[in-house]
Amino acid sequence: MPSEPLVAEHALEFPGGYTRTTGPVIGRFLTELRDGRVVGVRTAEGRVLVPPLEYEPETGEPVTGDFVEVGPAGTVMSWAWVDAPRKGHPLDRPFAWALIKLDGADTALVHAVGADGAKAMHPGLRVRPRWKPEADRIGHITDISCFVPEVTAMVAPIRMEYRVRPGRSLARFLEGVRDGVFLGGRCTRCVKVYMPFRTSCPECGSAISEEVELPDTGTVTTFAINNLPDPRAPEVPFVSAYILLDGADVPMIALMGDVPAHEVRQGMRVRAVWAPPEERTMSMANIRWFAPTGEPDVEL
Ligand SMILES: [Zn+2]
Repeated sequence: MPSEPLVAEHALEFPGGYTRTTGPVIGRFLTELRDGRVVGVRTAEGRVLVPPLEYEPETGEPVTGDFVEVGPAGTVMSWAWVDAPRKGHPLDRPFAWALIKLDGADTALVHAVGADGAKAMHPGLRVRPRWKPEADRIGHITDISCFVPEVTAMVAPIRMEYRVRPGRSLARFLEGVRDGVFLGGRCTRCVKVYMPFRTSCPECGSAISEEVELPDTGTVTTFAINNLPDPRAPEVPFVSAYILLDGADVPMIALMGDVPAHEVRQGMRVRAVWAPPEERTMSMANIRWFAPTGEPDVEL
């Protein structure tokens, strides 16, 4: 008859705690923690060990008696994220166990980092200790409740108020738009018509004095289909297009309407759809959008 393997469960526990003496080096570290400071010890080679040890781990040489205050801020070298904290863990919410090299130290100590999710952790993260209240500190590593990231961003309310003065040429153009007319300016030297109307030629710098009334028909030269809503757009997706008005030499940007987005094409003939005259102001909002005229496409 097969026999079951023998098993016996044991637990070793010192319910009141097990008192250990610390020795002078660890004792100094814990005493300083109680007083809200972190110290390391200098080795004969000049390295600073944090937490301090009695012997340099690489050579076995005794350390010097030279204690150095470090941190309190430090840098996360590596970490392990704890999604489900267990009884006895320093935090009762998800946190990271991290190797933290305090400023001025040559070795890293292990402590908890309270971060806003695992994605907030990265190598090089700057952290600072969150100390327990002084009265609760007893000279133990838990006198630091945890480390927390340094503050690197803040949310500030922003509001700007500003007044735009359009200048003479744009004001003249908007007067035209109020009256349902596109006004361009012709440079007699370059023989080009600029729309909106402007008082000097962007190519040669000449003053423009000749005002040209342009029709509200034109041709789509290029366009983009937009999938994010815009308060000015009739629907989503909507199309914004560069439209070359008949007689103009530079295109204007405008919305397309009365046509499905996927039917808009380069060379499409379009006409402005205006707001009713009683609703018009000196604003480009007078032009709702451009809609196809139904004419054949043109070569660009
Ligand atoms: Zn010119």
